[in-house]
Amino acid sequence: MSSLRPVLRKLRGMPASDGAGVKLVRVIGTPQLPDLNPFLMLDEFGTDRPEDYLAGFPSHPHRGFETVTYMLDGRMRHKDNHGNEGVLVPGSVQWMTAGRGIVHSEMPEQEQGRMRGFQLWVNLPASEKMTAPRYQEYGPDHFPETEVSPGVRVKVIAGRVGAHQGAIAQPATDPLYLDIGLQAGARFEQPVPEGHSAFAYVFEGAARFGEGDAATNGAKGELLVFGPGERIAVQGGQDGTRLILVAGRPLNEPVARYGPFVMNTQAEIRQAFEDFQAGRF
Ligand code: FE
Repeated sequence: MSSLRPVLRKLRGMPASDGAGVKLVRVIGTPQLPDLNPFLMLDEFGTDRPEDYLAGFPSHPHRGFETVTYMLDGRMRHKDNHGNEGVLVPGSVQWMTAGRGIVHSEMPEQEQGRMRGFQLWVNLPASEKMTAPRYQEYGPDHFPETEVSPGVRVKVIAGRVGAHQGAIAQPATDPLYLDIGLQAGARFEQPVPEGHSAFAYVFEGAARFGEGDAATNGAKGELLVFGPGERIAVQGGQDGTRLILVAGRPLNEPVARYGPFVMNTQAEIRQAFEDFQAGRF
């Protein structure tokens, strides 16, 4: 028997506004939880009210890390200064390596209806911060929902579940990113490399993490941060649950962070400002 990872912390996100006034819940990247190395930020957006999302995220820069957008509902058009453009539809994933710099916009491609999903920021090692920008962007067909055991449905975005390998690859942080649906009482176990940071975020229903007396409940809107161990066990609550389970290898490097720039030193942050203002992104 390999060891189960305990839940070290459980917390809720905080309401925030970003872009031109989009309402969202910031889960990682708050005073309570500034980061979870290598993860710099996790935002959940989820609303049926157009006024909460219509303003979108007009033109803004990124340098030195990756943004990962997972759409659950709604459509979002992205466009960057290198000529890339596309529409994210429900079930699609955009893993964007900003590298040395991009300037892009992310705007709703709808005027009504539900908009729901996540944006995760993943740090890059120093050796890759100034890499050429790159997209790993795939439609819903690339993330089939697999019933891995009775009552357990998993979409593998990154990493591996049994024989199912996710479409996204990032050797630097070796990420695991799963969307897990559990019926009431259904149980799922996932090995996670030792040393990886790992968290779950429950976005529907409730779940129970761990086993026996050491188990911890997690309800909709709660983030659970796991301690060391070899695997994570989760069981669906009485109405079932849906959650994301994310893990990645921490980077043991200094972090200098200012808004959309995440580098290793303050000098590199100043350089990022200069390069952005001079149009070198
Ligand atoms: Fe962005």
